[in-house]
Amino acid sequence: MLEELKKKVYEANMLLPKYGLVTFTWGNVSGVDREKKVFVIKPSGVPYEDLKPEDMVVVDFDGNKVEGAMNPSSDTPTHAWLYKKFDKIGGIVHTHSSYATSWAQSGRSIPCYGTTHADYYYGEVPCLRCLTEEEIEDAYELNTGKLIVDEFARMGKDPEAVSAVICKNHGPFAWGKDPEDAVHCAVVLEEVAKMAFRTELINPKVQPAPQELQDKHYYRKHGANAYYGQGGAK
Ligand code: 13P
Repeated sequence: MLEELKKKVYEANMLLPKYGLVTFTWGNVSGVDREKKVFVIKPSGVPYEDLKPEDMVVVDFDGNKVEGAMNPSSDTPTHAWLYKKFDKIGGIVHTHSSYATSWAQSGRSIPCYGTTHADYYYGEVPCLRCLTEEEIEDAYELNTGKLIVDEFARMGKDPEAVSAVICKNHGPFAWGKDPEDAVHCAVVLEEVAKMAFRTELINPKVQPAPQELQDKHYYRKHGANAYYGQGGAK
C-alpha cells in the first residue's frame, strides 16, 4: 500500500545525507496520508545507503505498524503524536544536525537575528525543556511528542508559523506540508542555527532583528498578503 508515498518518504530521507544533516543512521523522515490516517516512516537503524523505497514502514496514528518488514524508526511515537495533534502538517523530520543540536544541548532557543530566519520562522525557534526522569522512563518518544504539542499550545505558537523546534539535550524536529518540505525546513533550520552561532561569536551583545523587519520578511512569504515568488504571476 501507499507505494507513491513510500517513494516520496524514501527520497526525502535520502535528502538528509545529501544536505549533510545526518551522520550514520541518525535522523528520520516521515510523510502522512490523512485520509487513511496512517503515515510512512523510515525503518530504524538502517544505513541510508542501504535504504530502499520498499523498506519504508506504514504506521497508524497510535504508532502501531500497519505494513512493513522492518521495525519503524525509534522516534515513531513522536511523529505519530505530532500528526495527531498538528492536523495541517504532512511531513516530519528529526535529525541530529550539528548546529541545531548544539543549540539544543545548550538549552537555548534560536533567536531571530536576521531575514534568513524571518523568511521561514515567525520569531525564535524554541528550545523546550528536557523531559523529566518519569517522562524519560515511561514512553520517552511519545512524551517527546506530547511535550512539543503542549509547549506550542502554552507558548501560543502556531506550528505552521514556527515549523521547527529544538528539544533540550536532544535535537531538532521540523515539519512541513509534505516530507520534502519538512526536509527543506530542517535544512534551513541548520543554516539559521549556524548563522546565529556565528552572529553571537562576532557580536556577543547582538539583539534580535527589529520586529518590523521580522514581520516584513515573514509576511511577504506567508499568509494572505504574501507576494514573494511567482504565485500571483500571470
Ligand atoms: P532511527 O534510525 O530509529 O530513526 O533513529 C535515528 C535517530 O536519529 C534517533 O534519534
